Amino acid sequence: MEARSEGELYRLVIIGGGPAGYTAALYAARAGLHPLLLEGDEPGGQLMQTTTVENFPGFPDGVQGPELMQRWREQAQHFGAEIRAETATRIDLSQRPFRIEAGGREIAAETLILAMGASARRLGLEAEKRLTGRGVSTCATCDGFFFRGKRVAVVGGGDSACEEALYLAKLAESVTLIHRRSELRASRILQERVRAEPKININWNAVVEDIYDVAAGKVTGVALRDTVTGERRELSIDGLFVAIGHVPNTALVKGQLELDEHGYIRVKGTGPGATATSIPGVFAAGDVQDPFYRQAVTAAASGCQAAMDVERFLEGSSFHDWGLAGTGSAADAQR
Ligand code: NAP
Repeated sequence: MEARSEGELYRLVIIGGGPAGYTAALYAARAGLHPLLLEGDEPGGQLMQTTTVENFPGFPDGVQGPELMQRWREQAQHFGAEIRAETATRIDLSQRPFRIEAGGREIAAETLILAMGASARRLGLEAEKRLTGRGVSTCATCDGFFFRGKRVAVVGGGDSACEEALYLAKLAESVTLIHRRSELRASRILQERVRAEPKININWNAVVEDIYDVAAGKVTGVALRDTVTGERRELSIDGLFVAIGHVPNTALVKGQLELDEHGYIRVKGTGPGATATSIPGVFAAGDVQDPFYRQAVTAAASGCQAAMDVERFLEGSSFHDWGLAGTGSAADAQR
């Protein structure tokens, strides 16, 4: 790929319009870097599928997910971030400036912040789509509070499902863990905790075939099928948490920079350069590099760090000074 024109060469391009991307854009814009942000397929990120967000600091009465993201976006634009509702279709990290293809055009970038997020795996049911944010959730930390004293179910048998079930057991009246096999995949310690929690009941060999009640606009129950006997039955619940894993959106950079065994981008993690990837000048922020916390506020914090790391990188602060031997220097980046 070749840079088309001077106008398409940016000091910083941010890929991904969620909490990490918008925060990186806000900080970079205020630092005078005139960043370009490509929002991608899901502008606003995962919070666009949420209703009330009660754990984002600064909103004692809560805030609607889409409203929060819209205001966040406007804040970045207010300081001069250029935001395009375009999806990057190709990223070439083999040389600097890096090359990005989006909206049928090519863009060159001196530095990049990758903030493409991760997508929660879904069951693939129509009712799941319709009831997301109305009783169906993929985040107990975010939405568990709405189910105090209620009956909930969690789908999955891994660490996430067990953690969500344990978290919900502190709030809900009862928690049913629905797993498609007869043994959990989760680590032994989490399995033991789940088995020891009297509020959690495990429904083995079961898959969710339908979720009720789309017409009422809320969750009232699920239809389950036994994977061994084929038998069908119904379970009355008020909330369903789908915890069957996440997929980091790293397909465009796979094979170009270091990823972990689950496809998340590896970053240095602490101190200056915390968001540095295996390629100098390429930084990663938010869920695309964080399989653990996955909160809007932690993604925002990492977007802020990434923008500050970019600023220092472009100013010529050597990565060797940050204890990142072997990852190059800003002087290299500005060749
Ligand atoms: P995961 O380990 O991939 O587990 C996904 C679970 O969902 C599995 O039990 C799987 O069933 C089930 N599943 C997948 N697709 C399904 C479908 N379509 N319908 C029904 N069930 C389905 O994902 P995770 O639990 O999110 O964990 C991801 C990684 O993060 C893991 O390495 C995990 O150890 C790590 N993690 C660690 C912690 C911790 O250490 N505290 C917390 C969270 C995550 P099968 O078992 O039948 O495949």
